[in-house]
Amino acid sequence: MPSTKQITLDAPLDMHLHLRDGEMLENIAKGSAHTFSGAIIMPNLVPPVSTKEEVVAYKERIINAVGNENFKLYMTLFFKPSYDKDFLESVKDEITAIKLYPAGITTNSEGGVSGFDVEELRPALSAMSELNIPLCVHGETNGFVMDREAEFVFIYEKLASAFPDLKIIMEHITTKESVAALDKFENLYATITIHHLLITLDDVAGGMLQPHLFCKPIAKRPEDREALLKVALAAHPKVMFGSDSAPHPKHAKESCGCAAGVFTAPIALQLLTELFETHDALDNLQAFVSGNAQNIYGIIPLAKTVTLEKKTFKVPSDYNGVVPMYANEKIAYSIQEVKNG
Ligand SMILES: [Zn+2]
Repeated sequence: MPSTKQITLDAPLDMHLHLRDGEMLENIAKGSAHTFSGAIIMPNLVPPVSTKEEVVAYKERIINAVGNENFKLYMTLFFKPSYDKDFLESVKDEITAIKLYPAGITTNSEGGVSGFDVEELRPALSAMSELNIPLCVHGETNGFVMDREAEFVFIYEKLASAFPDLKIIMEHITTKESVAALDKFENLYATITIHHLLITLDDVAGGMLQPHLFCKPIAKRPEDREALLKVALAAHPKVMFGSDSAPHPKHAKESCGCAAGVFTAPIALQLLTELFETHDALDNLQAFVSGNAQNIYGIIPLAKTVTLEKKTFKVPSDYNGVVPMYANEKIAYSIQEVKNG
């Protein structure tokens, strides 16, 4: 007689992940690799990953850090308008997507794009479109912090109509405006984080400042979270889970000048299961954490099943020196078993 409630997820995918480099990579990579079948790896290192040699070398360092875990790396390059078709053809087999950052908008994005002139971007984006390489975008302007994403929707729409065959992924969307854009253009898709489904700006700054919930894009208003929940819980076919898990050392978060980023990778599946259960939407979790991403990217993930059970999990105070979201708090679901193959 089954006494505990269980759910088994098939090949969970994290479609937006920061694994960093060096010591941090060594400290945190296994946390994702253990419970996820694969992840889209963000390229914002110093310097950013922007050549074939760099992407191959970074992949190798991640493979070393991951050890024996069965974990597929979907690598990305840091977008530069100077990428031409010859270059993209030469690197195509090493990458799954290319990530565009507006200049200076988040961690290590100083070399990003500063104007969004379609003609200036046309050679690179047309070539990506022809080669079927998706474009992942961190969509924020340099405007007022709460309005940056909503202002950027205009740029998403401009790019989506100028390059109708280019798959454009609006990364880590946080606003009702971005949710609305999904249904306006066939070639716009989105990732959504777990933290933006759970928190609003109130949780970050409404009481005492919570540095471990501070991220970019900043958490928004309750109505924005509602809009995100609506499409995530329904597993709208154009949205997929991307944690945007972004570790920083504890001292960089608990300091004067807190770095932006929420570390969720090792607790993401537990939190998602709890959230979807709370909203009576567990039937849609599989599509949100894997199925939709497979369809959008056209990928067949490595076989891995993760069983979660309804058993209280106390979130550790840190993972190798990195403080996770909800440190020392309790989640209703625990990882019970991970099976490879
Ligand atoms: Zn990110």
